Amino acid sequence: MRKLLIANRGEIAVRIIRAAKELGIQTVAIYADADKYAAHRFAADEAYQIGTADMTIEAYLDIPGIIALAQAHGVDAIHPGYGFLSENEAFAQAIADAGMKFVGPKPEHLEMFGDKITAKGVATAADVASVPGTDHPVETMEEALQLGESFGYPIFVKSAAGGGGRGMRVVEHAEELKEAFQRAASEAQASFGKSDIYLEKYLQDPKHIEIQILADEFGHTMHLFERDSSVQRRHQKIIEFAPAVSVDNALRERIQDAAVRLMASVGYQSAATVEFLVDGDDFYFIEVNPRVQVEHTVTEVVTDIDIVRSQLLIAMGHQLHEAPLSLPEQADLKAHGVAIQSRITTEDPANDFMPDTGTIRWYNQPAGPGIRVDAGSVYAGATVTPYFDSLLFKVISHGSDFDEAVTRMQRALAETEIAGVKTNTGFLSEVFQDATFTSAQASTTFVDKNMARFK
Ligand code: ADP
Repeated sequence: MRKLLIANRGEIAVRIIRAAKELGIQTVAIYADADKYAAHRFAADEAYQIGTADMTIEAYLDIPGIIALAQAHGVDAIHPGYGFLSENEAFAQAIADAGMKFVGPKPEHLEMFGDKITAKGVATAADVASVPGTDHPVETMEEALQLGESFGYPIFVKSAAGGGGRGMRVVEHAEELKEAFQRAASEAQASFGKSDIYLEKYLQDPKHIEIQILADEFGHTMHLFERDSSVQRRHQKIIEFAPAVSVDNALRERIQDAAVRLMASVGYQSAATVEFLVDGDDFYFIEVNPRVQVEHTVTEVVTDIDIVRSQLLIAMGHQLHEAPLSLPEQADLKAHGVAIQSRITTEDPANDFMPDTGTIRWYNQPAGPGIRVDAGSVYAGATVTPYFDSLLFKVISHGSDFDEAVTRMQRALAETEIAGVKTNTGFLSEVFQDATFTSAQASTTFVDKNMARFK
């Protein structure tokens, strides 16, 4: 791999460029017109505008445009990051057809895990339990009502193609099911081009625990422990940490084993995350994310393993446990301390977390012992447009234990100063002072149920 195109923007594009540079790989950025002054453009060795001036998100979704640009500039591999085309099997296939390497899994695995109903079937076949629910798309209202009765309310109506907390709704009573079912199907059709809907038992107060997987082309599959991503607002993650200190060791090991078993059963290659909901002593598979995740950072900090570098080396055909990857054998892998990530977004907590836009006038970035910052364009003079994701940067704290990581995060949030655009830092500071959070006991409903405490 001599030249890598990064088909993404923002902090993850910068993150991938860093890993490529450390491996001596030339980097090519693409940018939409609205990203003319974005950090990822200037971080890469070469950068080219993609799309016309009126295109924003669509520019980063233009498969033929990106492939043509890559070919014109002698690119031999493409990293998709997260979001955008990262889970699009047609993109992965088009890259392979053009004689380049897609830094990710095989198209067939993107297809398999892109449909959550199919994914649940794969889990079942690998003897991994999913949340009780349907194993096929629910076609009729009669069937939906019958299933509602059998699982008991509340139930979760979900889109097979859903992602990012969209395409899901909780239904409390049979009377609500009809409307929810129809709305979910039409929303899914509009957002994901696929209207398949399935039903799941709604777990009242679970924790969201996910396992980081790395797998090579030679049949080696390993996990890099777990992350606790329970702190969410409306099913979207806000704070993540590793390891999941509040889950007992025996249960953590059972979840790690299940995740490795599932991914090995399909011969998966590259990085992935297997997500579970934990309810008491039981754990249930919900989905696989076949790509690098926003919260990969906390795993990197506690394991000292660079996940993006690993993705690149796996794509180059290296083995997990041999040079240059040289990862420890599973039994020898160790985690040290605890790492916590906060997602700093340009959302206004006083205005129901509506995304804010504007020009950053002043920025003081947190730093010091135990603090890592992964950022895209955050500097005085940078413009925050309404076109893209509201993630501005990520702060990751590391401590010898959970308490120290919390203390360092509180200190880092207090150091953070941003003027010109509203952010969620004040809200995060409140969460980091909450006794439920500081005792690592927060579940997926913690933020939504206690919102009044954080205002
Ligand atoms: P997405 O792909 O949109 O992120 P997921 O299936 O990963 O959707 O679920 C996101 C979050 O929604 C979970 O972390 C959890 O908080 C909640 N959730 C999903 N399924 C259930 C369920 N059956 N019961 C309770 N909460 C759920």
